[in-house]
Amino acid sequence: VKLAVLRERASGETRVAITPETVKKFKALGANVAIEAGAGLAASIADADYAAMGAQILDGSGSIAEADIVLGVQGPDVALLSGAKPGAWIVAGLDPFGQRARVDAYAAAGFEALAMEFMPRITRAQSMDILSSQSNLAGYKAVIEAAATYGRAFPMMMTAAGTISAAKAFIMGVGVAGLQAIATARRLGAQVSATDVRSATKEQIMSLGAKPIFVEKVAGIEGEGAGGYATEMSAEYQAAQAELVSAHIAKQDIVITTALIPGRAAPRLISDAQIATMKPGSVIFDLAVAQGGNVEGSVPDQIVERHGVKIMGYSNTPAHLPADASALFARNLYNFLSAFWDKEQGKPVLDEEIGNAIRLTANGAVVNPRLLG
Ligand code: NAD
Repeated sequence: VKLAVLRERASGETRVAITPETVKKFKALGANVAIEAGAGLAASIADADYAAMGAQILDGSGSIAEADIVLGVQGPDVALLSGAKPGAWIVAGLDPFGQRARVDAYAAAGFEALAMEFMPRITRAQSMDILSSQSNLAGYKAVIEAAATYGRAFPMMMTAAGTISAAKAFIMGVGVAGLQAIATARRLGAQVSATDVRSATKEQIMSLGAKPIFVEKVAGIEGEGAGGYATEMSAEYQAAQAELVSAHIAKQDIVITTALIPGRAAPRLISDAQIATMKPGSVIFDLAVAQGGNVEGSVPDQIVERHGVKIMGYSNTPAHLPADASALFARNLYNFLSAFWDKEQGKPVLDEEIGNAIRLTANGAVVNPRLLG
């Protein structure tokens, strides 16, 4: 079987879907690996590093002739895939809701598109989950960037010239990114609090040494839907949460927002009126800025100043940690394909549970229920 990896074309994308480490592992499974020249450069991986592990480096034309499986961080344009075998797999973060036209084009071209972000959240698929591996790094980076933008220090410092007080950091949304944000802000010495709609996160927040900020029981709402994801909350809950957050937020120096709801715009967590109550010099990092934003007024890749508060967020946060993000992404892809490797056929064969969850297109049609719904 032949695997091919193209250089990522999306603007701001620095990651690459394969590393020398995973080239070696794929070779050990018996696969051939072809990589477009320069594919790893932005992640500090030279062509020679891939070649040393036995990968074939393709010249600038980007031809991926005879590929059975094309790996990507983001989905490649169909125009780049001419030469791939009929029915070839496209395995990447395909952004199925945001890039629907591209999914349709994969179907029309007869490719089998597998969306890694639709990986089910089951124990055996944890090592294949790109959302977790990338969110974890994003949560870390959000805190680091907010700290760099903040005009004060995070830890309390007692110096001969006097004492500096610790920064107060508030993390909104305690999934994978939020947990890492809590841990990172704590390591830097901030006083950390956090909130989520899922009550199960309360204990996780406390176990990381942070203070939970929670709406106490609003009639029977747990906030947890299928697969451990958040559900959209009732108007009553939203009102109670907004009131609690308003009171708390006015006292915060750093706020990191991470709330996402799959397939929908991100929920609005912070209004302009709430920002107006914050201290000048405070920093808000909106990790959901590319999904419509949790924070009123946030703009991707810009620092917007409102009422003296700096609001920031990246359109692609993991791309700001290209080497580690690529290393983990590449391992997710390897863990996925190798788990299903059929030695006799010399290629991966998916089972129903995972195959049906991630397969977007097959035999010329869009087949995924989440896209047909
Ligand atoms: P996510 O990226 O979908 O959302 C981030 C967080 O925002 C979530 O905790 C969500 O509850 C929260 N949120 C949503 N709306 C909110 C609102 N209005 N106010 C406050 N918070 C809000 O979440 P995620 O990081 O993907 O993780 C979701 C859950 O799935 C976690 O419990 C995680 O541990 C679990 N998970 C399991 C697996 C697995 O078993 N393979 C893999 C990854 C994640």
